[in-house]
Amino acid sequence: MTADATEDLESFRERARSFVRAHLRPAEGSSSSAGLLRADKTDEEELAAVARDREVQRMLFDAGLAGICVPTAYGGRGLTPAHQHVLNDELRDHEHPTRLQSPTFTPCMAVLLEFGTEEQKQRHVPAILRGEEIWMQFLSEPGGGSDVAGALTTAVRDGDEWVLNGSKVWTTGAWWSDWGLCLARTNWDVPKHRGLTVFMLPIRQAGIDVHRIEMLNGSKEFCQEFLSDVRVPDRDRVGEVDQGWTVGTRWMVHERMAFNSPLVTVPLGSGHAGVSGSSMAAIAAAGGRLDDPLALDLIGEAHMLDAVGSALNRRIGEGIATGTMSDQSSAIGRLFAGFASARRTTIGFELAGAAGAAWTDDDGELAERGNDFLMRQVSCIGGGTTEMAANVVSERVLGMPRERTLDRDVAFRDVPRSASHS
Ligand SMILES: Cc1cc2nc3c(=O)[nH]c(=O)nc-3n(C[C@H](O)[C@H](O)[C@H](O)COP(=O)(O)OP(=O)(O)OC[C@H]3O[C@@H](n4cnc5c(N)ncnc54)[C@H](O)[C@@H]3O)c2cc1C
Repeated sequence: MTADATEDLESFRERARSFVRAHLRPAEGSSSSAGLLRADKTDEEELAAVARDREVQRMLFDAGLAGICVPTAYGGRGLTPAHQHVLNDELRDHEHPTRLQSPTFTPCMAVLLEFGTEEQKQRHVPAILRGEEIWMQFLSEPGGGSDVAGALTTAVRDGDEWVLNGSKVWTTGAWWSDWGLCLARTNWDVPKHRGLTVFMLPIRQAGIDVHRIEMLNGSKEFCQEFLSDVRVPDRDRVGEVDQGWTVGTRWMVHERMAFNSPLVTVPLGSGHAGVSGSSMAAIAAAGGRLDDPLALDLIGEAHMLDAVGSALNRRIGEGIATGTMSDQSSAIGRLFAGFASARRTTIGFELAGAAGAAWTDDDGELAERGNDFLMRQVSCIGGGTTEMAANVVSERVLGMPRERTLDRDVAFRDVPRSASHS
């Protein structure tokens, strides 16, 4: 199907609607577990789900419904956020390629579109839109994830190649992913923000050991990667040498935009990480609590969080797109989304009553609420913590004084570190 940048919204809606009705399955269950790292699938089932996500993405691509806001030169449709919104609306209650959205479309593809060379964009963006490449972000390290600029993973130049050594951690799903976008230190003799460079690298290669980390609920989706003499051609460097923080700053803006990004496809009503407000009535009904005034209060609160989150995301998205808000304002949405998701998950647990503590597979909507509750804080940590988002809001959005740091003007090699992190 050829791209048509002039396609009006109504004919686009018709096209999206007929594709969705003809080809996509109903969404599974009424309550999303997205973002909660549930241990509800065997490895075989998870790999099958990844394969289905790739297949659905390919179907969307072939139908001209992938990369709505991506330039046509890179396989996208070159349309507008309003078209993406229409697609999200038509996808309501249907499956969509969950695992490809974040971090593949944003922040990774967003970073490639902004900083990649023409050759890199031609090589990877169409492949991403066809569902052939799933990307991970290699940012956090065992020594700490909030201080991204303190990366210790090192890249040393060797002719036309770079040799990378170090470790990255907390990459969700790296064991079934294809490419990593990696922030590495290329210069230890300058202050920390000035000695970083970004690279892209295939994950499945000799030199990268992917270890899976078991969480307290049994999920093994988190991974840690050990990079030992990984050779990366210079053509796979993203942005200038030692200018990785320029890339990194925008990378984090794209990361905080998450479901608010026009590069992401997410059915309306399901863009809230964790348990959505629309699931609450079903949970209360399963527990026989629809007459309970306390339960009704909780259901109302969860719906309010959904409604405010949607309105806030839209407002911030429009504000950034029209230049009335700085792009750092994405931190406001990220901050709210973190707290709201944790609270909704807590509400789901409270509504489940005793089944929140002990349940069987036959408990339907009541099952798993206890496990979700144990993992509720992931929404305040993943994508950068809510504390760091609050810092961005105060310093970069409101213009308040910057946090005091002792390492800003010191060569990174002279910054004191504990023995285990040097
Ligand atoms: C679901 C999920 C998915 C993730 N996916 C990825 C991924 O794909 N790729 C990746 O690289 N990482 C990923 N992460 C890791 C995540 O980015 C880090 O966990 C996060 O940035 C925090 O880093 P940390 O855990 O090392 O905590 P630390 O940085 O050690 O922070 C510990 C605590 O101190 C607080 N703190 C630290 N510095 C400050 C400060 N200056 N001001 C105020 N408070 C501060 C933090 O907010 C936090 O509460 C993911 C994490 C989760 C939960």
